Amino acid sequence: MYSNTSSALDVRALREHMTGAVTVPGDSAWDLARQAWNLSVDQHPAAVAEPETVADVVVVVEYARAVGLRVAAQGTGHSAAPLGSLQDTILVKTHRMRTVEIDPDRRRARAQAGAVWADVVVPVSEHGLAALAGSSHDVGVVGYTLGGGLSWLGRKHGLAANSVAAIQVVTADGRVALVDADHEPDLFWALRGGGGSFGIVTAIELELHPVDELYAGMLAFPWERAGEVLRAWREWTRTVPDEVSSLGRILQFPPLPDIPEPLRARSFAIVEVAYLGDEPSGAELLAPLRALGPEIDTFGMVSPEGLLQLHMDPPHAVPGAGDGAQLDVLPAEAVDALVAVAGPGSGSPLLSVELRHLGAALARADAGHGALAALEGDFALFAVGVAPDADAAATVRAHLDVVREALTEWNSGRRFLNFTERPIDTRAAFPAAAYRRLQAVKTLVDPDDLFQSNHPIAPID
Ligand SMILES: Cc1cc2nc3c(=O)[nH]c(=O)nc-3n(C[C@H](O)[C@H](O)[C@H](O)COP(=O)(O)OP(=O)(O)OC[C@H]3O[C@@H](n4cnc5c(N)ncnc54)[C@H](O)[C@@H]3O)c2cc1C
Repeated sequence: MYSNTSSALDVRALREHMTGAVTVPGDSAWDLARQAWNLSVDQHPAAVAEPETVADVVVVVEYARAVGLRVAAQGTGHSAAPLGSLQDTILVKTHRMRTVEIDPDRRRARAQAGAVWADVVVPVSEHGLAALAGSSHDVGVVGYTLGGGLSWLGRKHGLAANSVAAIQVVTADGRVALVDADHEPDLFWALRGGGGSFGIVTAIELELHPVDELYAGMLAFPWERAGEVLRAWREWTRTVPDEVSSLGRILQFPPLPDIPEPLRARSFAIVEVAYLGDEPSGAELLAPLRALGPEIDTFGMVSPEGLLQLHMDPPHAVPGAGDGAQLDVLPAEAVDALVAVAGPGSGSPLLSVELRHLGAALARADAGHGALAALEGDFALFAVGVAPDADAAATVRAHLDVVREALTEWNSGRRFLNFTERPIDTRAAFPAAAYRRLQAVKTLVDPDDLFQSNHPIAPID
């Protein structure tokens, strides 16, 4: 049906067959079309397709195959940094497909490919339900879930990838498949935690959890107390039930008008907690941390929707560079090593350096799990800095290395795809047997490696 004989990409036929838009270099909308959420990433694909229907996605896949291009799905571009060159790739931006349907009786939400977490969390919250959303309102539901998905309810309910009922996906041969535990179970398994290497997901059906309200908030301390506070938080994590998910972080707020006055241009040591329980028992659990005398205490009962504000993620697109690590354990010496490179006097250029408490359901491989069965280790590190230009990006990246190196002794070497914003050897994200199975699925469904992903799984040669 399609051919690409001229040296410039001829997308007329593609445009004719699509409801959505197709943009190529030279078009007036080109710079806007190619932009990712992470503004520090300068994407130069062969073309950008913005499908509006599943049929549009099929058309793009068939066109790309026919003209010898690859295809990369992008929901928001939060994880655009590791994608690599898009020179021979059509970037498929799914943001026009954002419909969310909720079935409160079955506790399910079906989100189209371009939905972001606020699109799901806000309406399901009205039904007393919660999805296993991440900290940010505008991270893509699909990209986050395919990468595993570490949520505020994670220690109680596990990874988001393992609370998925079904996935609609366009495969490399242009087929629209609805995969679940009974239909194409290997592909269903691979998508849940194995990332975006297996097709273009057009919709995902999420299992929801009954949650009316939670006790949640943050305690903020002057950052000079970072060592003391993070050590106390680390001790405290050993005592908490599965209902408590928390993180400890060092945060240097930039002097931006977006940031409220008491926080702007100041640095803090912060503990954030979400507790699936009521206020009296939450206050009792929190007492040892409150006894440290925080400067700011925001705890109270919130709906699941309220959790989207807890982490103070950026309200809109920003330029940034980040990286993570999985820590087996976090002894007091590890906290000290972290504070030495990210706390007062360290000269750290990083905006946020956080440790998320893992374990409980996040560490259990329940029956029917996907490619990422569980997160190994007790804590996940994620650090990020603002990178408005190449020099700032280089400074931030160099310091991300400093932070990772400082924690080498406790780093398991395992990677969590969602907390990895650089190209890595994707084998580091999975146990060897899971990686082999992912490669076998990739070889079956996409032997020619049509789909380009931020963290690729390569077919077997
Ligand atoms: C501010 C911020 C907060 C975050 N908070 C959390 C958190 O709390 N927990 C957590 O686990 N992670 C978190 N993350 C990481 C986030 O989950 C990953 O960056 C994730 O990949 C983002 O998905 P996206 O669709 O928004 O990004 P994109 O860059 O659009 O997509 C990332 C990758 O997902 C795949 N993908 C996306 N859409 C499709 C599709 N339709 N079909 C097939 N593949 C697709 C592709 O491989 C793509 O390269 C956070 C990131 C940021 C920047």
